[in-house]
Amino acid sequence: MKRCLFLFAVFALTLLPQTVEAADKLRLMIIDGQNNHNWRATTPILQEFLTRSGRFEVSVVTTPTEKSPATDWSAFQPKFSEFQVVLSNYNGEMWPESVQKGLEKFVSDGGGLVIVHAANNAFSGWSEYNTMIGLGWRGADFGDRVTTNDAGETIRTEKGKGPGAGHGSQHEFAIRLRDTAHPVVKGMPTEWLHAKDELYHGQRGPAVNMHLIATAFADQSKGGTGAHEPMIWWIPYGKGKVFTTVMGHADYSMKCVGFQSVVSRGSEWSATGEVTLPIPENFPKADKVSSAP
Ligand code: ZN
Repeated sequence: MKRCLFLFAVFALTLLPQTVEAADKLRLMIIDGQNNHNWRATTPILQEFLTRSGRFEVSVVTTPTEKSPATDWSAFQPKFSEFQVVLSNYNGEMWPESVQKGLEKFVSDGGGLVIVHAANNAFSGWSEYNTMIGLGWRGADFGDRVTTNDAGETIRTEKGKGPGAGHGSQHEFAIRLRDTAHPVVKGMPTEWLHAKDELYHGQRGPAVNMHLIATAFADQSKGGTGAHEPMIWWIPYGKGKVFTTVMGHADYSMKCVGFQSVVSRGSEWSATGEVTLPIPENFPKADKVSSAP
């Protein structure tokens, strides 16, 4: 009888509106497979909180490992067009040209692209990728640098001047919103404390049409630049939107409720131009980190 009830329950669950809701979910592809970071530990965290938000149907697409034979790479053909948003957790070997072109077409046709932490270190030789991400982990001679003054006014430093990419020691640091009206961060505290992470500084690139959403002050006592460095930004690319956060070095960084909210809402927004996901009640405060269990 117990078994009967169980089967009935399973049957009933399949009839519930979840199946209808599934059609409304955004199809999100996490792409990973190579990284100088522990992607095997961080992809499941990304997948867990994106799925838990209820807004996404998440698939993970993993590239061939380093130094794989060409036949493995020719078989690697992610079907971008079946998704509404692609999230890159990849920092490794260059993709085949057909995959590069596929991603360019996907975004320019209106798809969302989300870049997390070291994904912006990748592909310095791929011109359109640099255009999409705006700023990447590159040397000072690669391109311009973008920071703000205390008031939040953008300062552009031309290539060759000032520091190139780097970071100081890991620590908790404040994220300061610079565009409080942007849908991804609207309603978040203007300043909130992010869990222990690397604070990227000196990011370089073409930074054309770059919309800066949030910065963090890179304290010199922690090995930083003494400048307000970009933490969250977006760039239009054709009909698509490329959303970047350089937060997310390790599992403990990604457990920050603020990081999870930024990535979930950023993914939704880059795919649809709208944000319906609420800001969680346990969101970090100006002086208090909040981490998911
Ligand atoms: Zn890192």
